[in-house]
Amino acid sequence: MATTKSTKIMKKAEGVIPGGVNSPVRAFKAVGGRPVFIKRAKGSKIYDVDGNSYIDYIGSWGPMILGHAEPKVTAALKKAVERGTSYGAPTELEVELAELVIEAFPSMKMVRFVNSGTEATMSAIRLARAYTKRDKVIKFEGCYHGHSDGLLVKAGSGAATFGVPDSPGVPADIAKQTVTATYNNLASVRKIFEKDPEGVACVIVEGLPGNMGVVPPKTGFLEGLRVLTKQYGALLIMDEVMSGFRLCYGGAQDYYKVNPDMTCLGKVIGGGLPVGAFGGKRKIMEMLSPSGPVYQAGTLSGNPLAMTAGIETLKLLKKDGVYEKLFASTRALCQGIVEIIQDRKAPCQLTNVGSMFTLFFSEKPVKDYKGAAACDLEKFSTYFTRMLKNGIFLPPSQFESAFMGLAHSKTDIDDTLTAVDKSLKGL
Ligand SMILES: *Cc1c(COP(=O)(O)O)cnc(C)c1O
Repeated sequence: MATTKSTKIMKKAEGVIPGGVNSPVRAFKAVGGRPVFIKRAKGSKIYDVDGNSYIDYIGSWGPMILGHAEPKVTAALKKAVERGTSYGAPTELEVELAELVIEAFPSMKMVRFVNSGTEATMSAIRLARAYTKRDKVIKFEGCYHGHSDGLLVKAGSGAATFGVPDSPGVPADIAKQTVTATYNNLASVRKIFEKDPEGVACVIVEGLPGNMGVVPPKTGFLEGLRVLTKQYGALLIMDEVMSGFRLCYGGAQDYYKVNPDMTCLGKVIGGGLPVGAFGGKRKIMEMLSPSGPVYQAGTLSGNPLAMTAGIETLKLLKKDGVYEKLFASTRALCQGIVEIIQDRKAPCQLTNVGSMFTLFFSEKPVKDYKGAAACDLEKFSTYFTRMLKNGIFLPPSQFESAFMGLAHSKTDIDDTLTAVDKSLKGL
């Protein structure tokens, strides 16, 4: 596999962009490699500047559920570009996408569009604090909610640790407002509430955690969070930036039947363009500027290109049988991987829900962040590098989900399984 051009571009990139990339995971640091630079993508395939092609399981980290450059989305975007790319004034497209979102997520009576998932969670939390007149936020170790100050906290071990920032530059005073609980452990949440029964504004949780690798909620965990938040007068925010329109059309809240106060979306609803959204109960959302006092704004929010890509994507996802097809092909791939693991007696655990999956290099099933963190990262790196050489583009970190898309074919699955078998050899 030649990577001369990628290597040359990376050298230049490192001179002008910190670490050569605009989002850290892209640098392949966790797998000790150098990134390939991408030239184009179509369907299930992605092509780098050296002419290598890969079957893509990153899918832009989730958004490309239909596959790359889907013809209907692309055609709609081409037309939209001709009409101008941003107006700084409202369009009917925003209303159309809002209606599609609200129809899919009955817990959301109103929605506001932003430009990223980070903005969505940050703004949802501001609103939750204003609504409850409280400051503390409970989040879970290993759950990622974007890079705003108060959410870059995962804290140390133990059932409930008051937050220390994960990154320099986050003031300790801000991190202190975030309290970390253990995922899949209701007792750790209850303990925080009992200690400060009137201080917690909200609990924020990933609909289906994918940011420590895929770690599904235990039966009763999300329901338990709903009960506890109600009991203590706090809001439940489901961060469905990844799981929304991914786990099923109505997201994790439909899949697991929970009814949150607020929801954050992103990724799929932008069809590959930069979008985020947050929404929830009318009484809460009406507190948002300009109908209420809580300020939030965005020059490019509700951008007509992003709205167009979102609308076209959701229309295609809404058709009958789409998720069944997606799940069936993911299941075929995952069953194949499990058979290889068994044949090779590989020290791996495959976690799969819907079209998301992670191959953990662990002897034991992974149930929380501690379990994920205990994985053999060296083996993962070897596996990742071998897979890439065999033409499979996987997330370059153990702590991520892989994403299946509707463009992946039977041949893609067979080719992937051949690569998995080769790559797991001797691991
Ligand atoms: C990706 C992601 C975010 C952040 O979204 P960005 O668009 O990258 O800012 C937040 N929450 C979850 C669950 C995510 O997967």
